[in-house]
Amino acid sequence: MGNRWIIAGLVGLLVAATASPTAQVDVNEKHLSEILSYMNESADACDDFFNYACGNWSEQHLSLYYTEIMGEVDLKVNKNLVKLMDKLAVSLQNSNHDDSNSVEDKVWRYYQTCRGASLDTRNLKHYLDFVQPGEQVPWPQLAVNSKQWPKNKFNWLETLGRLQRYSLNNVLMRSTVVPSYKNSRKYVIDLDRPVFKEKNQRLRGNFSTKNILLQLGVPKGSALNLARKVYQLELLVRDLTEGEDLPNDNLALHELERTIQAPWRKYFEIVLGHSVPRDFKVQISNVDYFEALVELLSRQEPNVVASYIMVRFIIFLREESMGIDEPIECIQDVRRNLDLAINLLYEEHFYESNRQKNNEEVTALFEILRAQFLTGMDGNVFNLNATQRELLRNKTRSMDINIGNMPKGVNHRKFVTNFYRELSLSESDYEENHLKVLQFRAARLIEKLDQQQPSHTKFALNDDGDYAMSSSPFYLQQLNLIVVPFGLLQEPVFNADMHDIFKISLLGFMIAHEIIHGFDSTGLGYDAKALDCINRNETDNLDERIADISGIRLAFDAYFAPGSKYSQAHPTFTTLPLKKIFFLNLAQFFCGSLDTSFMSHDPDDVRIKQLLINFPPFAETYGCRQGQDIMHPAEKCRLWR
Ligand SMILES: [Zn+2]
Repeated sequence: MGNRWIIAGLVGLLVAATASPTAQVDVNEKHLSEILSYMNESADACDDFFNYACGNWSEQHLSLYYTEIMGEVDLKVNKNLVKLMDKLAVSLQNSNHDDSNSVEDKVWRYYQTCRGASLDTRNLKHYLDFVQPGEQVPWPQLAVNSKQWPKNKFNWLETLGRLQRYSLNNVLMRSTVVPSYKNSRKYVIDLDRPVFKEKNQRLRGNFSTKNILLQLGVPKGSALNLARKVYQLELLVRDLTEGEDLPNDNLALHELERTIQAPWRKYFEIVLGHSVPRDFKVQISNVDYFEALVELLSRQEPNVVASYIMVRFIIFLREESMGIDEPIECIQDVRRNLDLAINLLYEEHFYESNRQKNNEEVTALFEILRAQFLTGMDGNVFNLNATQRELLRNKTRSMDINIGNMPKGVNHRKFVTNFYRELSLSESDYEENHLKVLQFRAARLIEKLDQQQPSHTKFALNDDGDYAMSSSPFYLQQLNLIVVPFGLLQEPVFNADMHDIFKISLLGFMIAHEIIHGFDSTGLGYDAKALDCINRNETDNLDERIADISGIRLAFDAYFAPGSKYSQAHPTFTTLPLKKIFFLNLAQFFCGSLDTSFMSHDPDDVRIKQLLINFPPFAETYGCRQGQDIMHPAEKCRLWR
């Protein structure tokens, strides 16, 4: 971090010494000099472009908080917000009217209970004070007399319903609110078997399970034995999920109750918070899994099933919090749980001065990329028939971009205040507040069942805290919408005064990548041979690799293809050719420490290599020798012709 400011300072001096430079020259020179300072010029671009472009990045970013550019941007957002919290503390204390319903007050309460909650309330067991497995059913280890735990009153499905109200999901089954496959304008509840792919989706083993049980008050003498049974249960459930994935079915509640013997009506009444008619429609996939599950659970000791659900609930809660009472971590917790409130405050305090200019620039960038994508479709680059092309054209035209994840066409402050109207938070209890925001989040998702979201207010209702606390852009299939968080629109990613080559190669690439995600499932006419080719260097994340490889072509063509609206004139601030600037700035997205691990993405050095070795203009730009240099293999994978 230190070096970076020294360099920025030097550039400032140089610029000041030359003849009256414009602001634009300043921002470009500064940005370029940073990029150049990350390069390792002893590396060969044709041999290892990651090392060439990013080799010195890590030693210039010695931060505990981040290891790559998105983390760097997030830290800036977090630091801004910490300062804002300090200001809020003063203004709320000095205020002499009732602020208890203001967005500021809610954000502040959550932040300050995270910062200051006494340590005796900050423990995992305290969560259980607020949530029981059933009416008059305590958690087994908390029963006054463990021999008298009312096991006959315990029902796993009822307990799942109760915990689902706190956003727990994917335990024994997955339950999501999705557009109905019969009528995509209506939402339904979809039930499916659970997945165990990510670390937080499963138990780690006997000993970590035992540790959690101990923290939750299970006596030392029985904890290991119980942990073994609990872990064994999960392994049995995992076995049941191994079979082939079967398509979904649409059942009325009474049909569901007949097919799978469990108290479904009670479950839905708990989840929805009101009574449900017997013809209430549910979407269910893998019915055979549910049949086997009911059979399996009927053979288990009820206290083992209850303990399993409890441990998974606690793991979920632990994952849903940074678990540290420091300012940056507490701000992350606020962002993850009160994302719309934070978006509003961020917009008002840190984005407002650039709002109009940035929004215009980013929207224009999106439009240019979209137009380029449609051009590719006109040339039938994607090998589609006429009907498919028309379908994809319509989808492309109706795709939308949302900057800051705020609904369009409404007053943001009014909207957000109203959105959080029914959320009231404690002044002193962190766990209580944590459960309240999770309950609030679950309720908003359930509300979708009764709504048809009008398209002009399209924004993301996050069911995933990791998205909510990140400044990375993302694509929402359900709304055909790309969300670009406010926090992304700052240096080193973006500045409205930057030269277009910088805008298209970094933010433009990110948006192009998200546009391609819009066509993941439809496949865009990729043939099996092409997919086989790009998977030769095997990846679990084929959709991501497709989005990278197609995304760079989209961004590159938008700038350099014939008919481009962008100036091909050589920029005044450097002697580097435009195409080299393009690739170096693109690399900024991938620069970082190689220790970073990403959910559902390959490591950055693999990503950029796979992306560039299959993209001929790269080798042309750097004069790489075909078949001899690593970055220029003779055989290239072509997704499209
Ligand atoms: Zn992606």
